[in-house]
Amino acid sequence: MIWRTHMCGEPAKELVGQPLTLSGWAARRRDHGGLIFVDLRDRSGVTQLVINPELAPEAAELAHQIRNEFVLRAEGTLVARSAETVNPNMPTGEVELQVETLELVSRSTPLPFQLDEENVDETLRLRYRWLDLRREKLQRNIALRAQMVGIIRREMEAAGFLDIQTPILFKPTPEGARDFVVPARLQQGRFYALPQSPQILKQLTMVAGFDRYYQIAICFRDEDLRADRVQEITQLDVEMSFPDQELLFDVMERMYARIWRECLGIEIETPFPRMNFAEADARFGTDKPDTRFGLELEDATEATRGSEFGVFAGAEAVRFLRVPQELSRSDLAKLEEIAKEWGARGLAYLVYDEEGEVRSPIAKFLSEDELAHFRGDPATTVLFAADTWPATSRVLGALRSHLGHELGLIDEEAFTFLWVYDFPMFERDEDAGRWTAVHHPFTRPTDEWKDRFHEDPEHALAHAYDLIVNGNELGGGSFRIHEPELQAKVFDLLGLGEEEQRAKFGFLLDALAMGAPPHGGIALGIDRMTMVLAGEPNLRDVIAFPKNQAGVDPMSGAPSEVTQEQLDELGIKLVQPPQ
Ligand code: ASP
Repeated sequence: MIWRTHMCGEPAKELVGQPLTLSGWAARRRDHGGLIFVDLRDRSGVTQLVINPELAPEAAELAHQIRNEFVLRAEGTLVARSAETVNPNMPTGEVELQVETLELVSRSTPLPFQLDEENVDETLRLRYRWLDLRREKLQRNIALRAQMVGIIRREMEAAGFLDIQTPILFKPTPEGARDFVVPARLQQGRFYALPQSPQILKQLTMVAGFDRYYQIAICFRDEDLRADRVQEITQLDVEMSFPDQELLFDVMERMYARIWRECLGIEIETPFPRMNFAEADARFGTDKPDTRFGLELEDATEATRGSEFGVFAGAEAVRFLRVPQELSRSDLAKLEEIAKEWGARGLAYLVYDEEGEVRSPIAKFLSEDELAHFRGDPATTVLFAADTWPATSRVLGALRSHLGHELGLIDEEAFTFLWVYDFPMFERDEDAGRWTAVHHPFTRPTDEWKDRFHEDPEHALAHAYDLIVNGNELGGGSFRIHEPELQAKVFDLLGLGEEEQRAKFGFLLDALAMGAPPHGGIALGIDRMTMVLAGEPNLRDVIAFPKNQAGVDPMSGAPSEVTQEQLDELGIKLVQPPQ
């Protein structure tokens, strides 16, 4: 007995007249005046089975029992469909399998939802994920992801990178999130941390002389979840010794070009444009600009220094967007809401109508010179932010990206890749009253800042870069500190005392002191990459078995309780029983 001679997507005119065996799932059954039609589906596609009670009475008898999602095996002869029954919308639409023998291989209980049903509640979908995954879109997304990962592996290997596996049970590796911790039974009272990334370990592979490392790594970050976040992210993690930024970028660009070519049939242009952080921030108000459209920020700080309008005159920065449209009051009210969400107190604007007349509550405070500075073409609206520089970036950056979508300025077919580099090295955590690393504490300062980052941490720049596509951050990386003294100095600035440095990162400092080569690398999010590639807005729909937004898996019920016996073995006492 064989299960199948072909996949369900394969039968075509050339095979007409041949005996075929197919196995798969019943996607649909229709009874038509004695004839029974069944759409038989597997991963490759669908073929129509026809069961004629006169030719195959036993099969017809069984066929009456078929319900959606039963697993069937059908043997028969492939026949051509008559001209009027050809289905041009189906790849196998010119043929059908005239069934001689039918087997109901396995049955299904009534389904919690139909596979072709739209807007099924996501919790229900996750609860029955094995069914949900049978749907065409999810099959496509997961297959696309596998195809992409295959290309990544081939490209990384061709470029001489070794796939090296690093441990999951480890020590905290800071990437700015909370750690997941795992109790160690054999060392009661101690805990492993799941890696937030293999950052330190991949650096150690460089100290160990492997020269080029990569891994498709899972990174665990215990974050409060938002719509576009998961706690287990998959990354293409890369590190190289004696790093050369152009070479690293080139390997990544070649990989992306091949992914886009082979997965989407699209040629993307390489090398990708590069822009430093300061320019991205000044022109787009963000470190991940969507460069599919213009609408860039402009600076009017100088032009408004002597303004009668106190809000402008007194602000650290006055910046604006010139929107090529005469916006209505209700448009402006909506934009003001968005501006407020991003921390603005209000939204000042100037609307120039078709005649070039200005309409605005603030116009009367502005001088002729100021008005001339902002005057654009007729039918434009100027939107202002007056605040600290970072606050104006935040507000106008958010308005810009909203308007890009709202006004249809974005070419939805386009993919614009961009490298952003020379990020600030530190940011101030006002609550904790100390500096934190923008990237991570192992990132090296740029050559220019190497000897004086501690004198002006606010302005110090890091040798770090991010890769952006269409305003989405695909990932980022940096050149690392390979000198133990420099690493200790950065730890110092971050407020880590000597003892804490030894306790947390002593092994790294020791390794750096034993002949560490210069090294650097990058990590790129596989989940996000699949979303962009598939045009899929739902992060969970590019992951086979995701958890929901509360970090719960509705399918298995994880996280779940453990027995008292397990707790005793671990030496753990619960303060509160689980709810
Ligand atoms: N470990 C970093 C991250 O996970 C990436 C890198 O610096 O290579 O974001």
